[in-house]
Amino acid sequence: MNKLTLKDFITYNNPCFNCGERISLSIYGHSLGGAKNNTYNQISLSNVKPIVTPEHTTIDLKISYRKTLSVCIYHISNKIVTTDVNSLSDYLKAHKIYLKSSCSKCHSVIESFFLDFDLDHGYLKPTSINRESLFFRDSLNTYSLVSDVYMDKTDIFVFGENYNNVSFQIPLMLLSKFKSKDRILKKIKTYLLFS
Ligand SMILES: [Zn+2]
Repeated sequence: MNKLTLKDFITYNNPCFNCGERISLSIYGHSLGGAKNNTYNQISLSNVKPIVTPEHTTIDLKISYRKTLSVCIYHISNKIVTTDVNSLSDYLKAHKIYLKSSCSKCHSVIESFFLDFDLDHGYLKPTSINRESLFFRDSLNTYSLVSDVYMDKTDIFVFGENYNNVSFQIPLMLLSKFKSKDRILKKIKTYLLFS
């Protein structure tokens, strides 16, 4: 699995392979469920909107009346600067966070694995793709590809004039392998011929 820096992740499907829209980046996370059970619960970080500039990405992880916990990641060096390294360390012990790149037009979504910060050396380690949900259409059909890297599989759904809710599973087929919608469509049509 290819490792991606934050900048690689931001540019991975940007502009969107399907509709050419600029993607929006968001942060999602899990919080530690409590001392009794060491499980992680999905938490909404919908108010956490990273600010992406060409040089860096700034994430305000926690905003309170008295102070904000921010982390800024530089795109070339992957070095981080934070408002409070101890609070960031505590936050990262209690939360696991990951990135989502979303296209508002076709709703294609790319998710990263959990982010791994090296606070001793002050940088963000590379991540990789965890899940992809791609949506696109040609003149007759709508296609959806849902890839799960951990499960090493891609589920394909086709519906439209030619196909009535056809679905099948193939070995993992990520966007990085194809780069263009035409090449993905060609591959899917080959699978459809034999399914
Ligand atoms: Zn799109």
